[in-house]
Amino acid sequence: MSIKKKSKNTSNTHRKKKPILEEKIKVNFAELSKESKRSWYIPGYYESYTYNCIACGKDSEFAANLQKKWYEEKKRYFWMRPNKCSQCYGEWLELKREIGKFPELLKTPLTTVELTAMLAKLERFRILNNQKFDFSLHNRIKKILQSTMELSEPPLS
Ligand SMILES: [Zn+2]
Repeated sequence: MSIKKKSKNTSNTHRKKKPILEEKIKVNFAELSKESKRSWYIPGYYESYTYNCIACGKDSEFAANLQKKWYEEKKRYFWMRPNKCSQCYGEWLELKREIGKFPELLKTPLTTVELTAMLAKLERFRILNNQKFDFSLHNRIKKILQSTMELSEPPLS
């Protein structure tokens, strides 16, 4: 009784990406988060589109099926949009984890090299995080770095 729908296999050795804007998936309104449902407007379909990564400027695709996953499975707010490519997102995640350990690390003695690396990571994170980062943590590390450098420098005159 079941008739298997034969999917036309058009893929061959030339696996060219389909023009992304053709891809459409119906929005299942019932699966959206409460917050999303309160949104003033929800379109009928998810449509793949490209955006520029805020960190590297590269074109990135937000595929319709990924959109469905974000808003219906992960229950993210419907108007929340990705702003980074997957590579920069991975770096952002890694840095976020590392920076989360900084306050603990600062309780231990650190070398100027380590402190400088921490500052560089915070600055990189700032770029990946749309200019938002922990200024007070940055200042704290800078102060420690300054005092560490003063200590290690031979006294003048
Ligand atoms: Zn990127």
